[in-house]
Amino acid sequence: MIIGILAIQGDFIEHKKALDTFGVDSVFVKYPEELDAIDGLIIPGGESTTISKLAKKWGLFEKIKEFGKPIMGTCAGAILMASRVLNEFDQEEDIPFGLIDMTVKRNAFGRQIESFETKLNFNGKEFTGVFIRAPKIIKHGKEVEVLIKYQDSPVMVKQGNRLALTFHPELSPDSLLIHEYFIDLVKAK
Ligand code: GLN
Repeated sequence: MIIGILAIQGDFIEHKKALDTFGVDSVFVKYPEELDAIDGLIIPGGESTTISKLAKKWGLFEKIKEFGKPIMGTCAGAILMASRVLNEFDQEEDIPFGLIDMTVKRNAFGRQIESFETKLNFNGKEFTGVFIRAPKIIKHGKEVEVLIKYQDSPVMVKQGNRLALTFHPELSPDSLLIHEYFIDLVKAK
């Protein structure tokens, strides 16, 4: 089993370190053909507009849409997983891959609390959720399962073998349980 990490822009190195702690092989993905050799894909946080633009330019956009295997998108990655993206002025942005039936609003927490940490709960375990200029999932379809909520809104969702989370699981040692969950998803296929 080998997990690919989209390495266009953002904190892909931290995701590699997270996978290393579980002894899972991983590779950075920059070229479309590299998607053929992996069993799952992580789309990291960063700047969603940049990642989307370069993914189109480098021929990755369509291939990621058709990938079919498990994908986990975190923060900017979650924005890219959405079917619809709004910016902070509620204008639609043509950037997502359309992998989960949800509408995501970018930079939705405003300037005052751009970044924060809070305790979240997953499967009965408490961990630290690190939010950095985080988006909000403001709407989702019936087939989307909400796995974690914060202040009554979803911060981690699942549709089939695709996961999207609006925080950064790679940035706190106690939140690596999210990587563990994704690794199991890739193993189960
Ligand atoms: N604000 C970024 C965006 O809209 C996401 C921030 C992040 O990934 N930490 O793309």
